[in-house]
Amino acid sequence: MKVGVPKEVKNHEYRVAITPSGVHEFVRSGHEVLIEQGAGNGSLIPDEEFVAAGARIVPMADDVWADAELVLKVKEPVAEEYHRMRKDQVLFTYLHLAASQETTDALLKSGITGIAYETVQLPDGTLPLLAPMSEVAGRLAPQSGAYHLMAQGGGRGVLLGGVSGVHPARVVVLGAGVSGMNAAAIALGMQAQVQLFDRNIARLRQADQIYQGHLLTIASNAYEIERAVLEADLVIGAVLVVGAKAPKLVTNDMVRRMKPGSVLVDIAIDQGGCFEDSRPTTHADPVYRVHNSLFYCVANMPGAVPNTSTYALTNVTLPYAIELANLGWREALKSDHSLALGLNTFDGHVTYGPVAEAHDLSQ
Ligand code: NAD
Repeated sequence: MKVGVPKEVKNHEYRVAITPSGVHEFVRSGHEVLIEQGAGNGSLIPDEEFVAAGARIVPMADDVWADAELVLKVKEPVAEEYHRMRKDQVLFTYLHLAASQETTDALLKSGITGIAYETVQLPDGTLPLLAPMSEVAGRLAPQSGAYHLMAQGGGRGVLLGGVSGVHPARVVVLGAGVSGMNAAAIALGMQAQVQLFDRNIARLRQADQIYQGHLLTIASNAYEIERAVLEADLVIGAVLVVGAKAPKLVTNDMVRRMKPGSVLVDIAIDQGGCFEDSRPTTHADPVYRVHNSLFYCVANMPGAVPNTSTYALTNVTLPYAIELANLGWREALKSDHSLALGLNTFDGHVTYGPVAEAHDLSQ
């Protein structure tokens, strides 16, 4: 099968959908890999490395799309790519169709078979192709928070780990899922004092077993959150209620009473954010002030570390992509129910319930 990888064109997207080891795997299985020139540059993977692994570099995106039977991408297609999609083609990428009527219309019009990373789901309900990005965002959150706590940008001038004889920063992590556990691990590694909240006590039990008292686990409720937030230097929002907007756990009134120069990082901003005053920001202009606190609400945090993110993402997408190429998409979906849940569009129809509902196409 011909597998194509175009360069990502979405604003500030530096990841790429394949690495040299992925190319090697496809070629070893008898497939051909076409990659647009410079597609790996943003992740510091030069064309030569792809060629050495067996890929063919083509000059233009059109050359990739025209030839490929399976197109691998990172982000959903944007307007300049719509005309390139074809009915006899399979697209495997993040699609986020429920959030965009325009992208959905473009996929349906083209008739392309769209398989979305974010809806591939394991029997235990977890989302294996989203998890690595939550890991990245979780690990970045204390790092970004620590940076913005420094005085030059208006932070309270507190070092996350303190020093001998001086109190460390207090870090409150809301949510003990993938991103929250990673955020807590890094904050602890930086020697902050960490309080981890979740509604799910089993999650807290797990954290407690791992950290043996080195962090505090607290059942999440409005009373406990308020107490912790008012004492916090850094609050990290990492909650998710599957299929719903994030609950607003930190109110404007709480922020008004927080310590001056405190920092709030809202990882859950892509689901609307879990602080009342959260609104999406970009890497170019990541923070804004609410009362005397700084809010960091970057919606694509992994974009700050494209090299790590590319490898983290492709580690998990590759086995599915290889299944699609080896078996053909129909057989691959028949033999793997988790992957089948990724099918979002086929032959001009939406095939994934929640996306159909979002666009009122469920009748
Ligand atoms: P997850 O499902 O692994 O964990 C979410 C946790 O939140 C669960 O343990 C759940 O019990 C807990 N929770 C739900 N309601 C709660 C409440 N009221 N109080 C405390 N805990 C509560 O989710 P995840 O993979 O860690 O993702 C978290 C969010 O981060 C998602 O919205 C995800 O899309 C987002 N995300 C954002 C970025 C970014 O760049 N901003 C990157 C990756 C993921």
